[in-house]
Amino acid sequence: WWTRGRDRVWLPYAQMKTAAPPLPVAATRGSRIVLADGRELVDGVASWWTACHGYNHPHIRMAVARQLETMPHVMLGGLLHEPAAQLATRLAALLPGDLGRVFFSDSGSVAVEVAMKMAVQFWINSGVRGRTRFVAFRGGYHGDTTATMAVCDPDDGMHRLFKGLLPEHLITDLPRDAATTAALDRLLGERADEIAGIIVEPLVQGAGGMLFHDAAVLTRLRALADRHGTLLIFDEVFTGFGRTGAMFSCAPVEQGGAGVVPDIVTLGKALSGGTLPLAATVASERVFKAFWSDDAMAALMHGPTFMGNPLACAAANASLDLFEREPRLAQVKAIAAQMTDQLAPCRDLPGVVDVRVRGAIGVVELDTIDVPALKARFVDEGVYVRPFGRIVYLTPAFTIGEADLSRLTGAIVKVLSPR
Ligand code: PMP
Repeated sequence: WWTRGRDRVWLPYAQMKTAAPPLPVAATRGSRIVLADGRELVDGVASWWTACHGYNHPHIRMAVARQLETMPHVMLGGLLHEPAAQLATRLAALLPGDLGRVFFSDSGSVAVEVAMKMAVQFWINSGVRGRTRFVAFRGGYHGDTTATMAVCDPDDGMHRLFKGLLPEHLITDLPRDAATTAALDRLLGERADEIAGIIVEPLVQGAGGMLFHDAAVLTRLRALADRHGTLLIFDEVFTGFGRTGAMFSCAPVEQGGAGVVPDIVTLGKALSGGTLPLAATVASERVFKAFWSDDAMAALMHGPTFMGNPLACAAANASLDLFEREPRLAQVKAIAAQMTDQLAPCRDLPGVVDVRVRGAIGVVELDTIDVPALKARFVDEGVYVRPFGRIVYLTPAFTIGEADLSRLTGAIVKVLSPR
């Protein structure tokens, strides 16, 4: 099946004929990927930053197995189950401010799309017409669906390719300094009547290039959103659940977050500990209240078939147990320190333009990069590292041991060094 099947499965992004064939994976455990031929690779990616507790954690596995016995799925249309109710309550307790009305879906893209629909409908329900555009930022990534591609960085290949299909939004620079802040202030002032909200990945723009910004940028966005009376949406699909060092980027400063509370936050990826497809769009009381009326059309017009799947919610509840019981955020801190130390030598290598670390995200940025050649060399070194754009990055499981993390950083230094 393997030889025939690998041409049957349509893989994402890579062209099947020209890219190296996919690596046959037989199993995953901890921070290792076990290949069909028995080789083990240390995983630097954690399956697109999802597997925060490592793969196949027994506590999550058991929780899913128990849930499987009673109810693998039931729809949330007019029905509710305990795993979803429990998870929503726990998320509300963990998130800052009054973010606590949880709409479940099954992927990060859909969670963002729901946030956008929520914002548009919030204005309609509030009696304000015509607010359907979003302000989004260069370097941003919010998903692969049509609505979400339209708020990604306009230089992203997908954005250009599907231009005719995409609605037009207002994509600009993050307010990093006085000039960009003034420009955004002007834009919001001039187009206020059209704008439903501002959407941003807080602290780290992930799939658009692992670009970092300070909390001050988010403080400015909050102030601008309030001044011009628009909604602020944080897309924490990548940054949520400890990745940047705080449980959420929007957490209070004392807890390592930016101390800025948005009106809507989106969660995905590590929500289920990277096990089953689950995402959530969480709104503040003010946003939620606009949907709480006797008018049927005021209800949020969205309902994914597999929303709040009980197995995925059970996995997410078990994942939150692990955040409570085990020192995940301390592990992220240790990973950050180790990566800072061990990736530092990359600064002196030819072609390296930047080395940066925030939480469990380590990035080496190059001036040019031969992605397929690098991928193959990493496999030869016994690690799974997946460069993209002009970056080589690490987003390991928080449970990765010191030795495995050293293998990843060591491989990066070796592969990027002149031979
Ligand atoms: N938002 C952000 C910030 C993301 O990083 C991603 C995925 N890379 C998405 C949305 C889309 O999530 P999904 O792939 O689960 O649809």
